[in-house]
Amino acid sequence: MLCVYSAVMRPSFLPFCRPSITEEDIAAVADVLRSGWITTGPKVSELEQMIAARTGAREAIAASSGTALMHLTLLAMGVGAGDEVVGPSMTWVSTPNIVELLGGRNVFVDVDRDTLLVSAAAIEAAITPRTKVVIPVHYAGAPVDLDAIRAVCQRRGVTLLEDAAHAIGTQYKGREIGGSDAAIFSLHPIKNVTSGEGGVLTTNDSALADRVRRLRFHGLAVDAHDRGQQGRSPQAEVQEPGFKQNMPDMNAVLAVRQLPRLDAFIERRAAIARFYREQLASIAGIVPLDDPTWPHRHARHLFVVRVDERVCGLDRSAFMDGLKRRNVGTGIHFLAAHTQRWYRDNRSEWMGRLPNTEWNSQRICTIPCFPDMSDDDAFSVIAAIKETLVQTRATVSGGTR
Ligand SMILES: *Cc1c(COP(=O)(O)O)cnc(C)c1O
Repeated sequence: MLCVYSAVMRPSFLPFCRPSITEEDIAAVADVLRSGWITTGPKVSELEQMIAARTGAREAIAASSGTALMHLTLLAMGVGAGDEVVGPSMTWVSTPNIVELLGGRNVFVDVDRDTLLVSAAAIEAAITPRTKVVIPVHYAGAPVDLDAIRAVCQRRGVTLLEDAAHAIGTQYKGREIGGSDAAIFSLHPIKNVTSGEGGVLTTNDSALADRVRRLRFHGLAVDAHDRGQQGRSPQAEVQEPGFKQNMPDMNAVLAVRQLPRLDAFIERRAAIARFYREQLASIAGIVPLDDPTWPHRHARHLFVVRVDERVCGLDRSAFMDGLKRRNVGTGIHFLAAHTQRWYRDNRSEWMGRLPNTEWNSQRICTIPCFPDMSDDDAFSVIAAIKETLVQTRATVSGGTR
């Protein structure tokens, strides 16, 4: 029996994600190292200009990570003691953590059970007189219903900040995410475009942009000439205490190299996602997400399935173990923030109040989907899923072995 499985097993481990790095990308990083200027400089300016041009935003500000920008931006938006920030618990913990560190309160809203997106109605119901900022997440690269959410924010007088960590290249109703209000992209290695580590805030609000630029680099004043050149002007003076969260040029150059390939990356991801959906249609209990009903281009950042034990006969950890034994890597995006240790201990009021989030938090699993995967790789993932289900069922039922 065992040799049947090993005969089709992948010879090498397939991670759930791997960045696309070419020899030319490596050479471009080496060129920055040789240039004599490796920290924030011309490559960061170039990256900011490229992202502003692509999204249509007036301003783009790069920093050392998406999380760093979440910190700087929420601070610049005035979030402090007692302020409420509305957003999903189905997100990376960096956002709720920053809210807590600033003395604010997370007000979690439940997500749709099958898209994992927050709705305008759920957000509106969570807004109180203490609400300062609303942070919807374009989960897995699918856009939230931005027009409806923006209308709620405007009507209720609260600031909108999009968590676009998964959404570089995502479009909503024909427009690129990041072209308005304020949106934060992440350039972490698993994201659709990477700078190693990094993030970019886009906004049309120049006052916000100036404050974030200042907070990014020690609180030093930057005028129009200095933009993107912080650290080069010895006369600059501290306007307020700031942080040290700038992006080095040796990181920026990687994203500068990758951005022109973003559309090709997304097309390849979409082809893999289409194949998975066709195949999963006949595999009971391994259930992909639904796409939103509004017009959009999905960036296919993550391919997420739900392992429904009642239907397929095994739980998520058995599913993930089975795939791992067959050399297929998986991830969990995400364990809901409110279910994690500190939040359980200190913000226990949220447990049980977010049923769709909790249902998914126990069942979601990210399977490999990245541009450098071959068709054979994608095929081997489906084969590993089928074998895992068959073998586990055989074991559970006492089997014919
Ligand atoms: C990756 C991610 C972030 C944080 O980005 P970093 O660049 O890793 O700090 C924020 N929110 C979500 C939903 C993410 O997936």
